[in-house]
Amino acid sequence: MATLANSFSQTSDAPAIIVPGRPSLTITYTQLCAEVASFQRKLASLGISPASAVSIALPNTYEFIVAFIAASWQRAIAAPLNPSYKQDEFEFYIDDLSSAVTLVPKGAYQQDAAAVRAARKYKAAIAECYWNGNEVVLDVKEKGKLESKGAQRLEGAQPDDVALVLHTSGTTGRPKAVPLTHRNLTRTMGNIQRTYSLTTRDRTMLVMPLFHVHGLLAGFLAPLASSGSVIVPLKFSASDFWRDFIEHKANWYTAVPTIHQILLKTPLPSPIPDIRFIRSCSSPLSPKTFHEIEKSFNAPVLEAYAMTEAAHQMTSNPLPPGKRQPGSVGIGQGVEIKILDQEGNEVPQGSEAEICIRGENVTKGYLNNPEANKTSFTRGGFFRTGDQGKKDADGYVIITGRIKELINKGGEKISPIELDNVVAQHAAVAEAVSFAIEDEMYGQDVGLAVVLKEGGKLSADELRGWMKDRVAKFKLPKKIYFTDIMPKTATGKVQRRMVADAMSKREK
Ligand code: ATP
Ligand code: MG
Repeated sequence: MATLANSFSQTSDAPAIIVPGRPSLTITYTQLCAEVASFQRKLASLGISPASAVSIALPNTYEFIVAFIAASWQRAIAAPLNPSYKQDEFEFYIDDLSSAVTLVPKGAYQQDAAAVRAARKYKAAIAECYWNGNEVVLDVKEKGKLESKGAQRLEGAQPDDVALVLHTSGTTGRPKAVPLTHRNLTRTMGNIQRTYSLTTRDRTMLVMPLFHVHGLLAGFLAPLASSGSVIVPLKFSASDFWRDFIEHKANWYTAVPTIHQILLKTPLPSPIPDIRFIRSCSSPLSPKTFHEIEKSFNAPVLEAYAMTEAAHQMTSNPLPPGKRQPGSVGIGQGVEIKILDQEGNEVPQGSEAEICIRGENVTKGYLNNPEANKTSFTRGGFFRTGDQGKKDADGYVIITGRIKELINKGGEKISPIELDNVVAQHAAVAEAVSFAIEDEMYGQDVGLAVVLKEGGKLSADELRGWMKDRVAKFKLPKKIYFTDIMPKTATGKVQRRMVADAMSKREK
């Protein structure tokens, strides 16, 4: 049965979780499952019943993991939230799911932290959740609307129970609430496990936050499904990364390109540890960075493509001896991927249209959003990703942009990702992001924000001159902005609209 209650070993002395520290904490599968069962009883006696939402406003910790799995075993809905949100953001999410309880770190209640104030406003119970060296504590501070509830009987979770609700990143608009069932999650866990041949011998270094699908599914749940070990630092730290990686014998990690880039600038250990593979996902990885990572870290780089609605992974480049294709996100992994036009018909190989996906990992639809649900699925049951792309002759998917972000210059569609990759090849350029700007004649034209490398010198005219030999004339940027830092979201995603806004503000 496809649930989080039976998707990993419950009786094994192999380490499931290692929390680095002095001393570090190692938890075996047997210990983890006993802890989860005990925490599930604590949630039940607080009044958490099937379908209650449990908001988890905790950083990457052992207690996060225990609370998340325990909520799903109780047939409740885990709702991880970025612990660094401000009060307004917490209010939006706690209200959206009408959370029964909000879990906060030790000390947050006394400090009247933002999550505590937001939970109180919507009468969610408030509980501090932490590891006391002996057990994961659930210290209930306020019972909110659970005041009159007694202990609930526990039942086995079912594959179609919603186990998790996460919101999309909000890269193209307001975040949408995505319910994911046990079936969706376990399907992705199996897909990822097979893609990378994960076994009990693998040790994953978790660097992505657990409050998004990337960290939760690829960095944590998939390794757990293969009885491997996950090393869980509190957060990504470039200076501690290699020390923890070596000390705890990690052999792979998955991250966004921004993190690979930070690591490329961090002094490398000597010798470099044996890395089985490095996974890159969630944002485009330029072929240039791909080659730099492979060379510096002496490991194959596997770029994957994922989204919240698909419980993370859709495609990936395969492990060697499979072909890795820089600039491509690889092939469908346990899912069907088709390039469909607006009417839902498949376009000829090589043509660009919308990337669509069908599989057991895909959500049935957004919460409280009938509008989006109507337009998000084709008649054939494919989910429309909103990403534009094509397949090459070998079936490898190449993403060319977000449908909403394509630059439409008088009807001529320009792929911002293609331009970013071209400009990134210039020796003086550290980072480049292109976007649409308003234009009187064409409606839209190309804007380009550029961060130069330290000591790099380049003028707008020189850059345009260099680009002329590499892209068609109509794609040359009308405006080029040099900037010291590129604006990004909390998870390191480029929001083209955000960059465009920041650059146009500087003009005024
Ligand atoms: P919203 O849907 O609210 O606008 P979002 O789409 O950024 O936000 P996520 O679900 O976190 O929210 O991200 C999924 C998107 O990330 C994909 O649709 C795609 O545009 C982008 N993405 C994921 N992996 C890659 C990749 N390897 N290369 C390029 N883009 C990627
Ligand atoms: Mg999206």
